[in-house]
Amino acid sequence: MESIASNLQAIHEQIDAACLKAGRDPAGVSLIAVSKTKPAALVREAFDAGQVEFGESYVQEFVQKSEDPVLENIPLKWHFVGHLQSNKIRMIIDRVALIHGIDRFSTAEELSRQAVKRNLHVEYLLEVNTSGEASKYGMPPAEVLPLSAALFSLPNITLRGLMTIASPDIAEAKREFRSLRILLDELRKLAPDPLKLSELSMGMSGDFTEAIEEGATMIRVGTAIFGWR
Ligand SMILES: *Cc1c(COP(=O)(O)O)cnc(C)c1O
Repeated sequence: MESIASNLQAIHEQIDAACLKAGRDPAGVSLIAVSKTKPAALVREAFDAGQVEFGESYVQEFVQKSEDPVLENIPLKWHFVGHLQSNKIRMIIDRVALIHGIDRFSTAEELSRQAVKRNLHVEYLLEVNTSGEASKYGMPPAEVLPLSAALFSLPNITLRGLMTIASPDIAEAKREFRSLRILLDELRKLAPDPLKLSELSMGMSGDFTEAIEEGATMIRVGTAIFGWR
């Protein structure tokens, strides 16, 4: 079995190669290590190998893991990448650097309410269903621009960009990544502070090099780092 450290090194080499191909600076792509279902000890192992940003998908598991003594006093950054329901926001709001999975206006509103109540400032991404598959979470792309003014006006939260989970078919996935980038460009034209709206969270173990070629600024990689779930 490959070690987490060597997996991370291999991924960084693939990130560098994809960036070279796309004429991009590798510093513009953040690797988020998705550690769902994996124990805190493996998160620690990845951190010790230089990985700082981690992603979790399930609220209960995330809360438990983030409190694990093995991660105490470790300056890692957590991303919540799963689908987030309004009633779970309170459990994660003060533990995360970025929330990727907001896909309804009502959830953004509740995030804002909870942030105001706690005097926090929270950054988030909108999850967009670029594949149109009914089984997937995410806001339909056509709803994003019409909602933008209302989203931008919510206090104590800042929309930093868009997130998607692409189709398994790689050619489809490329089209979906491109459509997300185009949607972000459109959204930026409507933003009061376009520079803040800079993130495209797209690409997982099977498609992150394609996502980078299409402009991903954050890739969410689990299996290729931690092994099969
Ligand atoms: C599990 C998960 C990932 C990582 O997927 P891999 O294929 O294991 O790399 C990325 N994003 C989200 C939202 C996930 O739930």
